[in-house]
Amino acid sequence: MIPIAKPYMNAEEAQRAYDTILSGWITQGPMVKAFEDKFAAYTGAVHAVAVSNCTTALHLAMIVAGIGEGDEVICPSMSYIATANSIKYVNAIPVFAEVNEHYNLDVEDVKKRITPKTKAILLVHQIGMPADIDAFKDLCKEKNLLLIEDAACGIGSAYKGAKIGSHSDLVCFSFHPRKIVTTGDGGMITTNNAAFAERLRLLRQHGMSVNDRERHLSKKIVFEEHVEVGYNYRMTDIQASVGIAQMDKLDEIIGGRRAIADIYLKELKDIAGIRLPHEADGYFTNWQSFSIYIKPECKVSRNELMELLLEDGISSRRGIMTSHREKAYEYMSPVSLPVSEDLCDRSIIIPLYYPMEQSDVYKVIEAIKKFVG
Ligand SMILES: *Cc1c(COP(=O)(O)O)cnc(C)c1O
Repeated sequence: MIPIAKPYMNAEEAQRAYDTILSGWITQGPMVKAFEDKFAAYTGAVHAVAVSNCTTALHLAMIVAGIGEGDEVICPSMSYIATANSIKYVNAIPVFAEVNEHYNLDVEDVKKRITPKTKAILLVHQIGMPADIDAFKDLCKEKNLLLIEDAACGIGSAYKGAKIGSHSDLVCFSFHPRKIVTTGDGGMITTNNAAFAERLRLLRQHGMSVNDRERHLSKKIVFEEHVEVGYNYRMTDIQASVGIAQMDKLDEIIGGRRAIADIYLKELKDIAGIRLPHEADGYFTNWQSFSIYIKPECKVSRNELMELLLEDGISSRRGIMTSHREKAYEYMSPVSLPVSEDLCDRSIIIPLYYPMEQSDVYKVIEAIKKFVG
């Protein structure tokens, strides 16, 4: 069976976790600091703050952005449900907008949904493909809104020559195994705003004024204060040490993924029944997922194709979900987002991971040609 995704880890990650376990410093210590420094340097952001996962990163981003009760935040419905949930955590209102054929927010549709209550736009770089950040930055400036980026899938992707994480003041990443690099679970927030970074560090650790590492390094006794109600959203040093080893592999992983995507794009381009993803000029994707749109005139339906692939030993997944059609957001209905619904219902994600055997890449290609060609 060819899986849809597979993390790339080996003895280096295991060794680093082993060393950390024996070091006696297990959570939010020197390894977390080293991972943050490495991550900031890689993305080009001034600060990086590690947390327990991307969902908690998004929650803290909402808080430091000052989003609260009754505020509206515009986001795509077509995203993993954590995007919308993070807005609910601060008692704000997710306002779902349409996406374009790259599964990213459509700026014209977003404009129509701005009201006097709109406080922020939560921009997702869906399945690794950057959204049009400049268009949203301009819009936020004009309307006095905050821009928050959900870059859960976007590590190593770039927009107009700069890495995701460097463009705005609250960018949230995930290290779940389904993303490009993993720490088991884990998250990171990058920011160029020192005040945001400081408050994020407070909030992730119970609002404590002095963190354990600072206290440990201090030559004097230090008593911490709890200056506001915070959370326990810490990353462990075990996770961070794995993350450091993963960062060393990141460019190799992305290079490998891009080579596989290039083969898919070349070999599948002449099949009339499907539409392939496209990386436009100025956009650089890590290909976190490779999604294919099955056109209505295609000779098999999306679900039929998924079944046929499965019979051939190839895993696939339905396209990205729409949050507004999940039970958790039923209370909002009726919400009509025809583009998102169509993309969700007609897309499949096909296997792409590094390293993927060349023969498996061609097995996927031959199967798709056989069933829809
Ligand atoms: C995976 C994902 C998340 C959640 O990340 P976790 O680290 O699992 O909390 C949020 N948003 C998007 C777009 C995702 O793909």
